[in-house]
Amino acid sequence: MNPALDKIDKFLKLEAERSFDNRAVLGGLDKILDTWTKEATESGLPQELIQLVISRLQDYDRLTPESRAEVLGGIRHRLGLTAVPPVSQRPSSTALVSKGEESPETSGQSVPRPDRADAALPASPASQSRPTAEADLKALQSPLTVIQGIGPATARKLERIGLRTLGDLLWDFPRRFDDYSSLKPIQRLWYGEVVTVIGLLEKIESRKIHAGQGSLVEAVVSDGSGSLRVTWFNQPWLAQRLKPGDMLALSGRVDQYLGRLTMTSPEWEPLDRQQVHTRGIVPVYGLTSGIHQKWFRNVMQSTVRFWANRLPDPLPELVRREGEWMPLSEAVQQAHFPSNWDALRSAQARLAFDELFYLQLGVLQQKRDWESASSARFPPPEGFDAWKGSLGYPLTRAQERTLQEIQQDLSSGRPMNRLLQGDVGSGKTVIAVAAAHLVASGGGQVAVLAPTSILAEQHYQTFLSLLCSSEIESEPPRPRPYSRQEVQLLLGATPEGEKARIREALGSGSLRVLIGTHALLEPGVKFANLALAVVDEQHRFGVGQRSALRSKGATPHLLVMTATPIPRTLALTIYGDLDLSLLDEKPPGRLPVTTRVMLSGERERAYGFIARQLEQGRQAFVICPLVEESESVEATAAVEEHGRLEKEVFPRWHLGLLHGKMKAEEKETVMEKFRRHELDVLVSTSVVELGVDVPNASVIMVEGANRFGLAQLHQFRGRVGRGPDPAYCLLVAESEDLAENERLKAMEETSDGFALAERDLDQRGPGEFLGTRQSGFADLRMAKLTDLHLVELARSAAQRVFREDPELRRPEHRLMAERLAGLWKPGQGDVS
Ligand code: ADP
Ligand code: MG
Repeated sequence: MNPALDKIDKFLKLEAERSFDNRAVLGGLDKILDTWTKEATESGLPQELIQLVISRLQDYDRLTPESRAEVLGGIRHRLGLTAVPPVSQRPSSTALVSKGEESPETSGQSVPRPDRADAALPASPASQSRPTAEADLKALQSPLTVIQGIGPATARKLERIGLRTLGDLLWDFPRRFDDYSSLKPIQRLWYGEVVTVIGLLEKIESRKIHAGQGSLVEAVVSDGSGSLRVTWFNQPWLAQRLKPGDMLALSGRVDQYLGRLTMTSPEWEPLDRQQVHTRGIVPVYGLTSGIHQKWFRNVMQSTVRFWANRLPDPLPELVRREGEWMPLSEAVQQAHFPSNWDALRSAQARLAFDELFYLQLGVLQQKRDWESASSARFPPPEGFDAWKGSLGYPLTRAQERTLQEIQQDLSSGRPMNRLLQGDVGSGKTVIAVAAAHLVASGGGQVAVLAPTSILAEQHYQTFLSLLCSSEIESEPPRPRPYSRQEVQLLLGATPEGEKARIREALGSGSLRVLIGTHALLEPGVKFANLALAVVDEQHRFGVGQRSALRSKGATPHLLVMTATPIPRTLALTIYGDLDLSLLDEKPPGRLPVTTRVMLSGERERAYGFIARQLEQGRQAFVICPLVEESESVEATAAVEEHGRLEKEVFPRWHLGLLHGKMKAEEKETVMEKFRRHELDVLVSTSVVELGVDVPNASVIMVEGANRFGLAQLHQFRGRVGRGPDPAYCLLVAESEDLAENERLKAMEETSDGFALAERDLDQRGPGEFLGTRQSGFADLRMAKLTDLHLVELARSAAQRVFREDPELRRPEHRLMAERLAGLWKPGQGDVS
């Protein structure tokens, strides 16, 4: 038998013999856990079992003997140990020491004995031996079901909010905190206050309301200074649960009804237990249906109480001292159940620092890995300059510079990892085409990933026109190096037969450039020799998707493109592993898009303006308001708006509709018609935001403009003004709120995407614009990327650690390396 199993068996038996008085081990059964965990880990007992034992025993001392019997029975069962015969049949016995004779094994050195108190005390962080720290770190990976009170059904519910492991739970910090720390006599309560009161339950009764539909529990609580009427809705069981004479702590907002103070549905707690919910600063967690705040807080409380102290701190001592950071255990503890606001702030800062620090380490490691890999070389082919000369326009200086950088990367023999940042309309696509040409002409295959089918289709058209010969000869003739068979489009909606043909051509190598959506990532899509992966609008992709694309080749070159402007420090932090190219210049002759913020009353004028543009042969976009809660509500609204505009506003014109609920093919058909000018007006939800390029469109009207971020409005605006003619952007604000509209005014003042993004940052926080999806890292929960000071601190600390120990091999970095590996899964750091 496994020695650790054997040992726990003995303890459990002994405890059963003593009728579960929790005195088989001095100080209580839970005192064996530290030593036992270590031994069990060393002996190779599965972590899941170890965690089970830990979690079941951690509250042992607080259980009644009956519950203890049940818990121990449960443990025995799960560990596959034989059942213990009923207590009455066994001779009563005394504590472990005196049992030496009957259980010779238990007198061994490593067994915690009452006379060796140190063995029973939790190890202090300094004396923590390696296996324990490692075991604890590993323990964070155990499934939530190891926690008492969490069964498979609850675990499934919790998984919906991303909680799978013990570590997930510990790092699931509260959404907010309520301050119940002010305890007041009832007499001194004020209407509207949020407080905790303690009082005696005088009476309680339940009755039906709304003709039997619901129920109401009414109670009176008094504390000698006064009394308070309390009501709860639809919790009839409360009238059974609480009895007059109970002492209660109630937390909530004080209301007033007919001149009396009342509280409606306060949180409550009988006073004899630890007042987790009602004392001090109380955490409020983000939950899912079927999980109650109070229950969750309880689970959190016992999990944190047990685990926070056992968390090894992987942050190198030096870094910790230098930043004067709170130890990790304390930080986790305080971030859930703070003793005061200052402690909470320090805890949050420490945890935020950690996130940024590991993010930075991961980025550095990634860069190093990439730099040590080798990739095929693709020097410019003969005739490349002639091809460049045939594009129909000269490249801008910024485009030339970027292309130079890419050419160098591609011929260096090391994998290119380049982020191309350029404002909307700065001409990123042609750069992607050029890069694809460089690689395809050298015999490599190219994949171009776009976030929507509309965009993929549009790119496909651009690639075809710049790379492929067509039946109709142009005048003068343009060098077009590839046949149409060599450049293809793959969407989710592509018919199965066609897909099979594409897979075949990919495998044989006859297909050179494949453009598409997520469909490219399907496992069946296999390249003979993927040498360049291009990702457009990269922030729309999860890191997993980007690495999935990458892994379709050995070490393909990588070009990611984004129109999201990111301040430089931030770019260095999040994308520090990538080289950066900037298209900071637009093609010549572009006029800034004239932008006007309008109130709803001015809508008619806007329509009139659009009609005049249409009469001049131009096209228009109308963007419907954002409905964040539901795509289908948004779609329905768009359908209605389209109908209304078609009938009442633009009856003479052809209108098209685009929304997120349409099938990919339907969307493409509409886009294609709009591109060919068979449609004059495109009514769309925000799906049109990305990259759509229809140069003849000269005006875009955005309804409910105040619901969008400036960066997103800037994206919309980028849909027009893509040629030399004047273009217009009409932003219709639905509120008359001056401050809101002031924000929109920034759109009138500048056409600089960076400036707008920074204002967004000031006014709305990072949001989607710098969402976690872009971080390329397990979530950033605490850290705000806008906290540039902290970003800088973490960055320089990580750089120093990395400089001194690039492989993170030193013993004092071992835990840190492990933590990093846990956060930064292979391939996850890809691209960002
Ligand atoms: P984005 O950077 O937003 O992806 P696109 O690549 O879609 O921009 O380019 C916007 C428009 O500018 C396209 O119609 C493209 O043909 C045109 N364009 C790109 N580069 C130049 C250039 N150097 N001179 C003139 N027009 C250009
Ligand atoms: Mg684009």
